[in-house]
Amino acid sequence: MGQLSFEDDCLIRELDSRYYGFLDLSNSKNAEIRTLVQQTITNLQNYIANGQVHDSKNFSDNKNAIQKFEPLTQEGEHMENTSSQNNDETKPYDTNANEKVSTIDEKLHDDHYVNALCKLGHLHLLLGEYSEALSAYQKYLRFRENNYWTNHAFIYGIGVAYFKLRCFKWAIKSFQELLYLSPNFTCANEVHLRLGLMLKHCGEFHVAQKHLQLALLYTYPSTYSELQVKFQIAHLYEVQNKHKAAKDGYEFLLNEKNISLELKADVYRQLGWMYHCVECLGEKKEREANALNFLQKSIEADPKSGQSLYLLGRCYAGINKVHDAFLAYRNSVEKSEGNADTWCSIGVLYQQQNQPTDALQAYICAVQLDKDHKAAWTNLGILYESCGQLRDAYACYLNATKQISFQSSLIRKKQAIRMKKDTIGLSKGLSQRITFLEGQLSQAPLPSITSKRRQLCSIEEAWNLPISLEMNSRQQQTAQMLPRQVTKQSPVQGPPPPYPHSQLSQSPIPAKRIKEDGTGHQEVTQNNSQTSAQNLINISESLNQRNFNAMPESNKNSEQSVVDTFDEISNDIYKQNETIKLERLSHDALSNNEDSRYDYIGADSADLSTTFKIQMDSKQLMAAVKLLPIDEPPVHCTVLQVNAPPPSPPDCPPQKLTQDQLLPPTPSVHLENKKNAFSPQLQEFCLKHPIAVVRGLAGALKLDLGLFSTKTLVEANPDHSVEVRTQVHQSPDENWDTSQGKRVWACISHRSHTTIAKYAQYQASSFQDSLKDESDKGFPGSQAMSDSDSKDSVSNSNIVLKRKKHKINSKMLRFGTNVDLSDEKKWKPQLTELQKLPAFARVISAANMLSHVGHVILGMNTVQLYMKVPGSRTPGHQENNNFCSININIGPGDCEWFAVPDAYWGGVHNLCEKNNISYLHGSWWPVLEDLYKENIPVYRFIQKPGDLVWVNAGCVHWVQSIGWCNNIAWNVGPLTARQYSLAIERYEWNKVQAFKSIVPMVHLSWNLARNIKVSDTKLFELIKMCLLQTLKNVLHIQEYVKSKGVEIRFNGRGKNEASHYCGQCEVEVFNVLFIKEQEKRHVVHCLSCALKLSPSLQGIVCLEEYRLSELQRVYDSFTLHRTQGLAYTQ
Ligand SMILES: [Zn+2]
Repeated sequence: MGQLSFEDDCLIRELDSRYYGFLDLSNSKNAEIRTLVQQTITNLQNYIANGQVHDSKNFSDNKNAIQKFEPLTQEGEHMENTSSQNNDETKPYDTNANEKVSTIDEKLHDDHYVNALCKLGHLHLLLGEYSEALSAYQKYLRFRENNYWTNHAFIYGIGVAYFKLRCFKWAIKSFQELLYLSPNFTCANEVHLRLGLMLKHCGEFHVAQKHLQLALLYTYPSTYSELQVKFQIAHLYEVQNKHKAAKDGYEFLLNEKNISLELKADVYRQLGWMYHCVECLGEKKEREANALNFLQKSIEADPKSGQSLYLLGRCYAGINKVHDAFLAYRNSVEKSEGNADTWCSIGVLYQQQNQPTDALQAYICAVQLDKDHKAAWTNLGILYESCGQLRDAYACYLNATKQISFQSSLIRKKQAIRMKKDTIGLSKGLSQRITFLEGQLSQAPLPSITSKRRQLCSIEEAWNLPISLEMNSRQQQTAQMLPRQVTKQSPVQGPPPPYPHSQLSQSPIPAKRIKEDGTGHQEVTQNNSQTSAQNLINISESLNQRNFNAMPESNKNSEQSVVDTFDEISNDIYKQNETIKLERLSHDALSNNEDSRYDYIGADSADLSTTFKIQMDSKQLMAAVKLLPIDEPPVHCTVLQVNAPPPSPPDCPPQKLTQDQLLPPTPSVHLENKKNAFSPQLQEFCLKHPIAVVRGLAGALKLDLGLFSTKTLVEANPDHSVEVRTQVHQSPDENWDTSQGKRVWACISHRSHTTIAKYAQYQASSFQDSLKDESDKGFPGSQAMSDSDSKDSVSNSNIVLKRKKHKINSKMLRFGTNVDLSDEKKWKPQLTELQKLPAFARVISAANMLSHVGHVILGMNTVQLYMKVPGSRTPGHQENNNFCSININIGPGDCEWFAVPDAYWGGVHNLCEKNNISYLHGSWWPVLEDLYKENIPVYRFIQKPGDLVWVNAGCVHWVQSIGWCNNIAWNVGPLTARQYSLAIERYEWNKVQAFKSIVPMVHLSWNLARNIKVSDTKLFELIKMCLLQTLKNVLHIQEYVKSKGVEIRFNGRGKNEASHYCGQCEVEVFNVLFIKEQEKRHVVHCLSCALKLSPSLQGIVCLEEYRLSELQRVYDSFTLHRTQGLAYTQ
């Protein structure tokens, strides 16, 4: 270092991850820069190899280089300011000065060393050397665990490296954090696009869509075209079976003049295949003609596309044009060799032509290319079974059910969840075949099976043959429809084939190419099914991969090599990540202005927010904001403390729990009378525990629960809307995926709507049916379902439990959920009755934060009703923004509850992640054993009619009805520091996850400041911090907007007007609204999204909800109230 010319130095100084995809170093016109980058990498590597932290000898050598452009003193002062957190303080020249200077020197040197790692990461990244880049970045992260989040170029770089190395979990995490920290990041559009692609790939379609739409908003330069993003969005519709929208999207693209040939080929291919597969697109003959036409157009546009040729083959096979099908397959194999799908389809074709030996060889090709090719293994099994070779068939079926490689199993499980019913049926057929063959094989002595004349060589022999070459030529022969021949097999060589007991993982022949999901989503063909082409593969999923790779990136070659070697490195990366967590350990990290304007190994500059604290009054705050730079838009606004790290799920408490502690008794109280119910001890008891059951509440308060019985509800509002979830009936502590024959987390339910009257009919007839069942089975006659609170519900539910043992699952049930009882006119008697509850449990109360929101949040500060038959499931969740909830069972049946204390939610979150289900968006039912294994305790209890369940802030819970019953529920927010801090932490984490917070915490906090007096120091500080951060942000935004020459108009707020959310990214928008007309609607935007639409803010109206003086007044007059306990006024 230090040898670079001034220009070179400036150039290198400039280069970081943000140039990725824009600076193509593989292009010969950039050869000079490439050489320079490579030379710098060598220099940095030498420096890093020699340099060690606190090594003063090296330090003095490098100091000159450091000082080259910016004097050391400046940095020294900069740091001094930071550590004292006060701009007014000058550098102290006291007796410790020398010592201080040397500490600074050491620190400077350390910084230089650590930042060199980051620079090394950037440069490797630009060269497309992803593993090297990742390795350097990870080393950097090790040193910067406590403040890496100020270095946005680093987070972007490591995210891209993870992305390219297909570590999607980590790439997603990095990119989400980056957008949270810096929504206006230079490459935010690239980040949104990549997040969209990865989330689509992981099956998180809703969030994927959001990110792709956001990527479209930008006017910044990008490495992809608008049309490519639109193609991805259309494809997203396609994989969600929204065929009409997908078709419209594709057709729109074809009408675009500047569409590239490659994209055109992709569009035609997708359209063609949709016509082939999707019945609603017209009459079959016409569809087939369209399919062939479009696929041929696709091949015209891109003659090299093996995929389109393959699909063309499938279409021909589907209409029995065998010769054309073989021809297309052959061409496909030539264009893209090593495609397991093609070989599998060739096998199907042979099998249909009754050529088992040829079919065998084609399938073997497929499974050798992709050991996890479920369809090929299944078909092979069917083939063997049809030839009476049961042992071989059994081996193949077992392989079809196995998930071999880690990566593909990840994806596959995810997709299995989303598979259509009939697919599950087929897979179920598979496990039935396996059971059947197990029976056969155990009865039949082995020799009698093997001594039979075999039509086909065994799987063992077939696996060890060098088939591909032979097959290639054979296939060409067959394409000319030569008569089939019987192949003679050579003796077996080498290790055993993939028999069930010889463990596939030890199988001798490695897959020739690691495919992550290419063939993931397959449906299994039925033996000799005429429609096999349709059934065999749901191709849209296997095209995912291709579309992914269709992204334009520089360095295609190195990318390919990375993908090819993915298998070897991926595990290392995962391992490494177990030790190098992205989460930091403490929240009170150093304030961090160590980043370096002093040399080219620099990081992002941190902002001056350390100077902001809640002791400032609004005037001081305004003065401090004036010092903030306004050339760049204000970065993210957190309501947590200044310079807080991005929020992430916490580690579980480390204390090892005993068997008993893993199954803690549920805190419960029994109420004798009204006095009990209103005692402060009851509230204290509830607030003390993660969850609590208040038994006998209805009786003690003489609540008329009959008002919520199905009979009364039908009489009151028969046509009222009910959301219905159709679910599989399972026993409460189990959740089976019948297709995989094992317990899973994913909990499937289908949504529809009905009315109270219709659901009531269903509920009653379901009960009648069960009575009939019972008497048929000779159970003693049970009580008729009472429409009001029944004392007999316990015996009811017992019967149900016994009955469940007799029936094997897979019975479907309908759960009536989220019935909105907010309308005070419609539900007056019901809502009035609930006012008998003690204040802390009431829907509306001054002591309930949610009553201070000032507008309705359906289901949170209003009542919702649930109508259940046995087995109705509310999957696992925390309440919105971690608020508490109240749930009363109306009866007559019972409900069973499961709950995990909030301290363990990070553990539950990780298990969801492990099971490839989104914690926030997904629907999951925890496997209890998994929780216990992770040292996570679970409360488990029965809620009887008249019992109230108190769910404390952040408690994870899931509920299943045992009998027929209704429940009512709503949320409350006690005015405690714990409730408030959990709510705002979740508010921030929701932003990271792009999940909408339905409680507008900023708006609520300002209302709280107006309405209540707080004497709890912690609660006060938290609310005040939120006010400080938001007021600072409002002021900063206004300064920025004014600097752009945009006028801010006062708009005010209507009474009970709902708080605003950004129409694009769904974050809460407080006080400064950016309005743009979109499709004749005036849509509110946050500043970041407004800037995406219009970087100069031209054409955007900026409105203000509160006068600045009003906010200042609220901020200044919100002070700690010095009395005992909490006081509130309304
Ligand atoms: Zn937005």
